[in-house]
Amino acid sequence: MADEVPGTRTHQEEASLDQLYRDVIFEHYRRPHNKGALDGAEIVTKGNNPVCGDRVTVYGKIKDGRLDDVKFEGKACAICMASSSMMTEAVKGKTLAEAGAVADNFKSMMRNEVPFEALPEVPDIEALEGVRKFSVRVKCATLAWTTLKNGIVEYQAGKQGGETCTEESCAT
Ligand code: ZN
Repeated sequence: MADEVPGTRTHQEEASLDQLYRDVIFEHYRRPHNKGALDGAEIVTKGNNPVCGDRVTVYGKIKDGRLDDVKFEGKACAICMASSSMMTEAVKGKTLAEAGAVADNFKSMMRNEVPFEALPEVPDIEALEGVRKFSVRVKCATLAWTTLKNGIVEYQAGKQGGETCTEESCAT
């Protein structure tokens, strides 16, 4: 191959890798994991990314200091939906402190502040690594994680779920 550079991936390999990652993202987009509302959730937090129009609500049920269940709802682009789906898997069962740290670490990875490493709980997350190249899309990928972290902080500050804005008051 004329344009092959020794020691790097060929264009063909790059392309098929990109395709693989796109497939992973679209699979989560089409069939998001843990999507839906959670009745009686202690954490109910909304987040929105006006740049893209992504809106998500993150729900967390807390039991013995752990996120016993985590779900999300929303209208968002494929990257945001896929990342939200992966977020729920990454933090379910973790203590609030652990979940907050996982969310912070993911944001740091997406902002290129630390090396990108796939999470053992969510190998699929590797598919989001390429999103870092597109700075406007980074917020799509981090929205659900930021929203979860905000929810944890609010909960720890003593605010109960449900005190976040309603659909009506968020409309503007
Ligand atoms: Zn988006």
